[in-house]
Amino acid sequence: EQSADEIGELAKSFNHMAEKLEQVENERQAQEQKRDEFLANISHELRTPLTSMQGFLEALQDGLVKDEESKRRYYDVMYRETMHLNRLVDDMMDLIKLEKGDIKLEPYHVQVGEIIEKVVFLQEAKAEERHNEIHVDYPDDLPALWADPVRLEQIFNNLLGNAIKFTENGTIRITIRSNHQSIIVSITDTGIGIPSHDLPKIWDRFFKVNRMRSKKEGGTGLGLAIVKELVELHGGTIEVQSEVGKGTTFTVTFPLRRAKA
Ligand code: ADP
Repeated sequence: EQSADEIGELAKSFNHMAEKLEQVENERQAQEQKRDEFLANISHELRTPLTSMQGFLEALQDGLVKDEESKRRYYDVMYRETMHLNRLVDDMMDLIKLEKGDIKLEPYHVQVGEIIEKVVFLQEAKAEERHNEIHVDYPDDLPALWADPVRLEQIFNNLLGNAIKFTENGTIRITIRSNHQSIIVSITDTGIGIPSHDLPKIWDRFFKVNRMRSKKEGGTGLGLAIVKELVELHGGTIEVQSEVGKGTTFTVTFPLRRAKA
């Protein structure tokens, strides 16, 4: 004879299973929706430069553009649009691979200071163009980080690139410090800042506070989404603090002790 207790237990576990199933189904639907949105965004992002190029090409083809000066301007725009398309495709491929787990890290013992120095060197000219000063500060006894140097460079290139892009006549300060558990890199600029209601959205794909400005500076709106994925792939975290008109700080924290796969 089965006790009421046992039946009660059975009913409970069935309920539990049904709940789990529903949860899995909800997650699947949410993921599908996210993918559909991404695809819709992709086609919009690709179509915009293509439509613009088509218009300029047709004008040239129809002989509507007479003087050399205007022609050159048209070619310039079309050239910039193709560059933008290239960047879009590169960034999209990166992001898709990251999400599929197709990007494998190739970690070494890395001196984060060296990576930062290299990234600063590469972007110094761009910073000067906008009259920005870059200061780097870190102690010389920083422990090595077990990380993929190519990906670290990509992360900091993106963050420093943004800091320069959104700052003029300002200062960008990069500091690296470490406690026993982690290495912490912060990049602070004195630029335009990000409105607080937009802060949670900056990690979203294709999100830009100001579309025109981002595009003019060659942005795809995918940079931070990629950065976040890459940081998390290293087991790290990234945070942002910002105030409009004052500036922005991105803080990246990497754990020091990682299993050496
Ligand atoms: P984008 O290609 O437009 O730079 P990102 O994903 O790198 O795309 O950044 C998303 C948006 O976040 C940017 O368009 C910009 O509005 C905002 N943003 C990122 N970094 C900064 C910064 N340092 N200062 C101000 N705004 C920033």
